[in-house]
Amino acid sequence: MIRCTIAGAVRRAIFFITFFSKRLFMGFTCGIVGLPNVGKSTIFNALTSAKAAAANFPFCTIEPNTGAVPVPDPRLTDLAELAKSEKVIPTQVTFVDIAGLIKGASQGEGLGNQFLGHIRSVDAIAHVVRCFHDENVVHVDGEVSPARDIDTIETELIIADHDSVGKAISKLEKVAKSGDKEARARLDLLQILSDHLSCGKPARTAQLEGEPERIASVLGGLITAKPVLYVANCDESEVDHQPTPGGSHLIDQVATIAKAQGAPIVVISGKVESEVAELPLEERAEYLEALGLSGSGLDRLAIAGYQLLGLITFFTAGPKEARAWTAPQGWKAPQCAGRIHSDFERGFIRAEVIGYADYTQCGSELRAKEAGKMRVEGKEYVMQDGDIVHFRFNV
Ligand code: GDP
Repeated sequence: MIRCTIAGAVRRAIFFITFFSKRLFMGFTCGIVGLPNVGKSTIFNALTSAKAAAANFPFCTIEPNTGAVPVPDPRLTDLAELAKSEKVIPTQVTFVDIAGLIKGASQGEGLGNQFLGHIRSVDAIAHVVRCFHDENVVHVDGEVSPARDIDTIETELIIADHDSVGKAISKLEKVAKSGDKEARARLDLLQILSDHLSCGKPARTAQLEGEPERIASVLGGLITAKPVLYVANCDESEVDHQPTPGGSHLIDQVATIAKAQGAPIVVISGKVESEVAELPLEERAEYLEALGLSGSGLDRLAIAGYQLLGLITFFTAGPKEARAWTAPQGWKAPQCAGRIHSDFERGFIRAEVIGYADYTQCGSELRAKEAGKMRVEGKEYVMQDGDIVHFRFNV
């Protein structure tokens, strides 16, 4: 019997790196899910239209329900100022508005299989939960109840995963019986997962032991193995409510579940955000301030979505442009160089690196160099979040 020894965090990290590295060039995607009428499209539309206007960024609507959103990073703004960069290019996260999840979706209700196909292809999930009251907006189950809504969605996803695992088990059983060791090992993992899912628990909390790559591959197709963040879509007057696990507020119900799952929570008002998104840029801060808000909920959502996969951001900065780049944690300098251009990776010689704190303290690249703060790093260097880098290469 396989026993539970690998810490969830380590397993998740391996899983994300393996899968994310494959998906990196397709972009990191965060699927917005939730019951009908909870505010998914409102938030998606606000997110994409506000950000498109706000960042002077080549925003793209890949499909009507898919939009790339720049991730705000004050470090990039600082660097651009210090380097006197003409252009500023932030990193981005792609949001997908996934409609069609209702009770019974796993059995083909609503958009059923179509929905499940969409959600299987994203890297992470933003689960929007209705915490707002509005008599004019019908709740599919009669009344607003965040804990019940989360349970409804999660149950559907768990059932869908349980079906997938069942199918994978049936396929492998014959091969495993013939004495194939790899098939046997995978089958053991799948059986643990099947038991775990049938107890109503998501795959991401299953305790699995064995080869990290095998575990990653077994978890790979499962929806409930993806990292999740909760978006509490609340009343306008409650956007400054501090989510408190165990508290009595509707938002607190979401916080309690998020805490139990180790998932982040973002409190947002879809209504406020969609109003803000329609304002000219220069009026937005004032409007938020008048509502007692220090910043945009959409910024927090884009940042939380980005952080969900444990990515790092490194920078390139010069007079032409200051740019933020994304890489999974643990990537070495040549791999990161390859994010910029494949020649940089192929002909990698060295990376000249200045840490963000050193760069900003010294005030410029030149002064950082003079102060001995520029490090010359080789092929084995693991890039750190906040590194400002020049890659030297020769092809
Ligand atoms: P979806 O089905 O989850 O995509 O939900 P929609 O975004 O289409 O929203 C359903 C309804 O709820 C629409 O009439 C929205 O205007 C309304 N709605 C969305 N967010 C809020 C909110 O924060 N407050 C209020 N009062 N209404 C909202």
